[in-house]
Amino acid sequence: MNYCSQCGQAVSLRVPAGDNRERFVCDACDIVHYQNPNNVAGAILTWEDKVLLCKRAIEPCYGLWTLPAGFMENNESVHQAAARESIEEANAEPGHLSLFGVFSMPYISQVYLMFYGELLSEKISAGIESLDVGLFTQDQIPWDEMAFPVVKHCLELFFEHGVDSGKVHQARFNRLPNREVEIFTEL
Ligand SMILES: [Zn+2]
Repeated sequence: MNYCSQCGQAVSLRVPAGDNRERFVCDACDIVHYQNPNNVAGAILTWEDKVLLCKRAIEPCYGLWTLPAGFMENNESVHQAAARESIEEANAEPGHLSLFGVFSMPYISQVYLMFYGELLSEKISAGIESLDVGLFTQDQIPWDEMAFPVVKHCLELFFEHGVDSGKVHQARFNRLPNREVEIFTEL
């Protein structure tokens, strides 16, 4: 950031008194502009043996498939965020949502909180951020057209383990110099 959102003057990157890392600090009003990770909430929603996927109508990854997910809004719970994204992107009707996995992406300062739930209705349709939506069995999933590594990983875990144990999966993602992503499972 270049300018203070409080007073409009220039900010500089320095370690505030009593802190231990650089922050953007306003040179005029001294306010510290903290920047922290963003939470993304999403859901694996099933109908019988099928999973709901959305084909992205927005960048990044336009035209690739994803689970309904998006940045949390202020003043909502993470469950509400996952349900809202499911409605916005697929006009889906999610039932009870339970936590399926927590995935950290320190290289982009994002945390994904992914839920599992059953659809209350088979009726789905593309929302404004989706080109298309569909219900896919494991064999039908376009595995080579997944938008994000975290989405692919989430689906792989789901089909490998199911949800019977109620286990919450935990992993950390790291991006390598060649843009590949490596995944560390946190036990
Ligand atoms: Zn200021």
